[in-house]
Amino acid sequence: MARKSTPLLLFWLVAIFFLVPTPPGAAQPGNMVVYWDFEPSGNSPGTQIAWDTGAAEWAADHVNQLLRLPEELPVYIVDDPEPDAYYDPMDRSIVMTSGLFEMFWDMAQSAGGDTELLVFDSILFTAFHEVGHALIDIYLLPATGREEDVADQISSWIILTTVGETEAEGIEVLLNSAYFFLTEVGKNPSLEELAFWDTHPHDHQRYYNMVCWCDGYDRGLTEQVLGQPISAILPEEREVFCEEEYALLDDALYTLLGDYLIE
Ligand SMILES: [Zn+2]
Repeated sequence: MARKSTPLLLFWLVAIFFLVPTPPGAAQPGNMVVYWDFEPSGNSPGTQIAWDTGAAEWAADHVNQLLRLPEELPVYIVDDPEPDAYYDPMDRSIVMTSGLFEMFWDMAQSAGGDTELLVFDSILFTAFHEVGHALIDIYLLPATGREEDVADQISSWIILTTVGETEAEGIEVLLNSAYFFLTEVGKNPSLEELAFWDTHPHDHQRYYNMVCWCDGYDRGLTEQVLGQPISAILPEEREVFCEEEYALLDDALYTLLGDYLIE
């Protein structure tokens, strides 16, 4: 008797599992979800833009449509004047500070143009960069180079290949986020300020990398978005390698992430 009831009990347990609906608003396992620790007060313009435009939420929705994640990937937005964004491998979460949004706002102000767009695009690049760290950690992706370079590559690749209605739009988003590093270039730090031991490439290098990957992705469209020939920005010594550099990056990321991409 007892032996007969076991399959029946299992049947009901499975049936109940499928019948019980998920409460509305509950975080789905495997989704990237943004949690604000606070509400902007109004005297922090960059944070207000992040809040009003939902840039981090946009990035999370995009990742959820693009990548399979084995568990929830929370993004905590915290009120901290220190500009920072990082992936925490201990609890597998991403943290972004209000200070980072304010730094993007300062950058956008000095760059001129559409402040809201520059802040939005910089948040996208940062969010995807941190997702790159998360993917490397969660899926144990092999990498022989600096992880920071790989995270920049993953972010740039996601933007170029999946963001925007047209290919030119993806290039525009990446170039907009590269402006942040360009403004840092403009500050022309002294040799003492350049941390050669740092895990990140220098802002100068990150800027030229991102321009180079746009160029390697599509030179014609990149020049169209820039409104000038690539040679006006990238010296020939680098520019001749960009097509091959992007092709290698594209190939490597498809190989490493192919199993986790939602078709
Ligand atoms: Zn990083």
